[in-house]
Amino acid sequence: MSNKYDVIVIGSGPAGYVAAIRAAQLGLKTACIEKWKGKDGKGVNGGTCLNVGCIPSKALLDSSHKYHEAKVSFGSHGIGTGDVSIDVPSMIERKERIVKQMAGGVAGLLKANKVDSLYGTGKLLANRKVQFVDFEDKETILEAENVILASGSIPVNIPVALVDNDVIVDSTGALEFQEVPERLGVIGAGVIGLELGSVWGRLGSKVVLLEAMESFLAMMDQQISKEAQKIYKKQHLDIRLGCRVTGTEVVESKGKKEVVVTYTDKDGKDAKEIFDKLIVCVGRRPFTDGLLSDESDVKLDERGSIYVNDLCSTSAPGVWAIGDVVRGPMLAHKGSEEGVMVAERIAGQKTVMNYDIIPNVIYTHPEIAAVGRTEEQIKADGEPYNIGTFPFQAIGRAVAADESDGMVKIIAHADTDRILGCHIVGPSAPDLVQQIAIAMEFGSTAEDIGMTVFGHPTFSEAVKEAALAVNGHAIHMPNRKKRK
Ligand code: FAD
Ligand code: NAD
Repeated sequence: MSNKYDVIVIGSGPAGYVAAIRAAQLGLKTACIEKWKGKDGKGVNGGTCLNVGCIPSKALLDSSHKYHEAKVSFGSHGIGTGDVSIDVPSMIERKERIVKQMAGGVAGLLKANKVDSLYGTGKLLANRKVQFVDFEDKETILEAENVILASGSIPVNIPVALVDNDVIVDSTGALEFQEVPERLGVIGAGVIGLELGSVWGRLGSKVVLLEAMESFLAMMDQQISKEAQKIYKKQHLDIRLGCRVTGTEVVESKGKKEVVVTYTDKDGKDAKEIFDKLIVCVGRRPFTDGLLSDESDVKLDERGSIYVNDLCSTSAPGVWAIGDVVRGPMLAHKGSEEGVMVAERIAGQKTVMNYDIIPNVIYTHPEIAAVGRTEEQIKADGEPYNIGTFPFQAIGRAVAADESDGMVKIIAHADTDRILGCHIVGPSAPDLVQQIAIAMEFGSTAEDIGMTVFGHPTFSEAVKEAALAVNGHAIHMPNRKKRK
């Protein structure tokens, strides 16, 4: 192992490994340090995303969706299935195989790009020196021209519901249940609560989500949130807003553990629920434990994130930080793009990242996806705007597929017609929103989208119709605004 590098990356999640690969592609001698240990005691790449986040949650979302379709939806297509059963340990095992395959893929990519993968813990010292301690506790001091910190995030804990990894779990524990809990409680009806609540709800749990905020998915466009809330209600996700959890107690009943959750409801009344499992998912926080020595000169902001400017430079020269450990949405693709930007900047390029166009998805069924600003944000910014909406109910492909819940909403500037945001709840929402993300990158107007020929029959026709509706030209729906 060499001690001198052009670039040392600490953390190999989607931010860190992408930065390392891009740096190596640009001819920089690069090392990537990772402390994640697999069940076999060996180092594993991929971070939260691959090991306990995006990939395993989507594996379970897909498995549970197939089960639910077979059980509930196939009949309407004339398909008889007899008794449909579920083998939870097999489902979990499949998820683990996928994780292993993908994490192995990242290790292979690092190797193919000649990145030195170092398994152990990295700590930033002064002057871009890094203390590396491997899994055998052997310490080495490394040096680099540039250091990229990509140490990620961990779940937020709340004292009223401390995770015991048995009855009360965080998102990681909720990916490991070996049987379907009959009664599942979820604290926090945010992204993780909705996704993992959906997984276990589809498999048969009675799911109750206790959410502190009075508005549902407050960060999303509220018209879309309301539409989604109606859909989730039909799916029997019991979402209770304005609830403040005051305590939890794990007790034994009939030889089984259960958790008693006390809370005050939206009217301020004391209430109680008993669950077999409780998932706590009230947000994530940046992770910097053991990462920075006192001499590193790297400053944190008031939220505990590593303070960076728009180019991801920290307060210490030659030290950069990317991904969940810095400001901005905690999304894998946001961190990866920052990784590319920083690697290219280090290599002398002038790359910048467009933080205004970062797609955001919630993988329930149907999915919710968004890019750009919400109507509420545009209104608050005082900009004049037009809106076009289109329901999937009027899309032939959606009706044929029995996927007609939801809508597309496009918001464009009233004077320039440039698209400011797109919000979708409905089939293939993430892929449809991506079309608008590309259009926004090129400064498209709603009219540009409306003039584009879309294949028929496709879900994406809802995007074209919503774009046409912005200027009152939708064909398959009466227009609220009529313009020539
Ligand atoms: P991480 O992925 O957290 O990686 C950081 C890595 O750094 C870890 O491997 C850690 O071990 C390592 N590390 C930390 N400190 C040190 C040190 N001192 N020395 C060595 N190594 C260190 N995002 C999406 O965009 N789409 C999704 O569908 C999605 N689903 C999610 C589902 C769940 C259940 C969860 C929990 C998260 C999900 N996310 C999703 C969020 C996504 O996982 C994160 O935004 C992403 O993983 C952040 O990437 P990162 O590289 O910044 O950090
Ligand atoms: P979140 O911020 O999405 O949701 C947390 C929810 O918990 C919020 O609605 C909040 O109001 C509520 N809450 C906070 N404290 C509470 C309390 N004491 N009692 C009841 N409710 C409370 O966070 P998350 O769902 O934990 O996810 C963490 C991060 O991981 C998110 O930032 C998200 O970006 C990322 N993630 C992304 C995806 C995806 O892109 N599909 C999936 C999972 C996670």
